[in-house]
Amino acid sequence: MTEPLIYEISRPGRRAVSLPACDVPATPLPAGCERADLPLPEVPEVDLVRHYVRLSQMNHGIDTGFYPLGSCTMKLNPKVNEVAARLTGFAALHPLQPENSVQGAMALMYELQEMLAEIAGFAAVTLQPAAGAHGELTGVLIMRKYLYDRGETQRDVILVPDSAHGTNPATTSMSGLRVVQVSSDARGNVDLDVLRELLARHGPKLVGMMLTNPNTLGLFDEHVAEVVRLVHEAGGLMYGDGANFNAILGIVKPGDLGFDVMHYNLHKTFSTPHGGGGPGSGAVGVSAALADYLPGPIVAKSEADSLYRWHMPPRTIGRVKAFYGNFGVLVRAYTYLRMLGAKGLRAVSENAVLNANYLQARLRGVYPIPHGDRTCMHEFVAQGILKDAPDIHTMDIAKRLMDFGMHPPTVYFPLIVPEALMIEPTETESKETLDTFVDVMRQIAEEARTEPELLHDAPHNAPVKRLDEVKAAKDLVLCYAPGCG
Ligand SMILES: *Cc1c(COP(=O)(O)O)cnc(C)c1O
Repeated sequence: MTEPLIYEISRPGRRAVSLPACDVPATPLPAGCERADLPLPEVPEVDLVRHYVRLSQMNHGIDTGFYPLGSCTMKLNPKVNEVAARLTGFAALHPLQPENSVQGAMALMYELQEMLAEIAGFAAVTLQPAAGAHGELTGVLIMRKYLYDRGETQRDVILVPDSAHGTNPATTSMSGLRVVQVSSDARGNVDLDVLRELLARHGPKLVGMMLTNPNTLGLFDEHVAEVVRLVHEAGGLMYGDGANFNAILGIVKPGDLGFDVMHYNLHKTFSTPHGGGGPGSGAVGVSAALADYLPGPIVAKSEADSLYRWHMPPRTIGRVKAFYGNFGVLVRAYTYLRMLGAKGLRAVSENAVLNANYLQARLRGVYPIPHGDRTCMHEFVAQGILKDAPDIHTMDIAKRLMDFGMHPPTVYFPLIVPEALMIEPTETESKETLDTFVDVMRQIAEEARTEPELLHDAPHNAPVKRLDEVKAAKDLVLCYAPGCG
């Protein structure tokens, strides 16, 4: 790092603000609130601005370059969403305001609930959960409570395919249930024979199954109807991980397929910036039988006076979030849906699938694609394995991509594909950008054979080189100051 950090350029007495003279009586802070030793950097405004702009430039974002991070749906977040979310009437609301003063915000939430229910074929939706994983936990708790209420308290098993996102087994464990893994067949579907055998063994203990469809191989399960039928027959419920909903908007309704519960990733499919981890929204939709179990408050509309009211469903699992969910994300999702309409929404998925298949077709023969004989949905999984370059791994290819101003795909996931490179271009990228990506991926494959050290030493231009990623994630240094971190 060549640029000085803000503490190094700090000089006593420099200021980034000039406040007007105080025209109210000075009031001392309550005892214990004052600190004599608060080491804040002292810099003028120009250096302060440079510091933050520089930090922002160290990050790769969807606004700076291509971002084919599989399963994360890093699509354009239309700027009109931001305009809507910043409208004072939304942004300046207080969650403790009385209902009659926030009818506009409640109308937005009500209509969003209704639109999401319609798009996925569910009877009711809660907007409370703050992320996809949080929606999963909510969904699993709903399934469990529903079965408890029917006296089926012995049920404690959830089936999860081996292609599932790590959050699926994690949320199942957090809810106190047991995870049993289901393997995939040679075509990347749930293995029906294995499923039948597991149902024979665990049927009476089954809470249900969590299925991502299309799955994390980017494949629409060819037997999804049969999977749902078998799980229902065993007395279980079907949970849909809706993080991959971007592939089927306006084409397939998970509720029509027989799913009982699903979470939506509003920040993925419905366009809220979500690099860096938040805020998000993991709204949950359910069938009519489960509607009474949703966490609230949800928004209900009164027939009598057309007013919106906060409503706690009668058998609710309780609250899962303070107040009313991440409202700003809800405004963005609402704006996105209203701008697109039903036809536009379907076009989103058609183009997302088209773009992914275009990339898959053009990279065939350059990198191995285990299920490349099938039409993919919005993403596909290639492998960072190259003939004549045995020392090159997926991580080398991913890091080399950064030298070309592109974010790497998701790597080493799903776990069932060795050296996985999971590529999701999204619908908002042009053919030219996709072609550039293919050119770069071809060039990297060539370099792997001719100049492998270029890949081993990559990235060459990033602010930091190869990190110990586990240490970076688990052993965070959250502050920089003399004597700290
Ligand atoms: C992103 C994702 C999740 C989790 O969503 P978060 O909002 O990150 O908690 C779950 N399943 C799949 C398939 C995902 O891609």
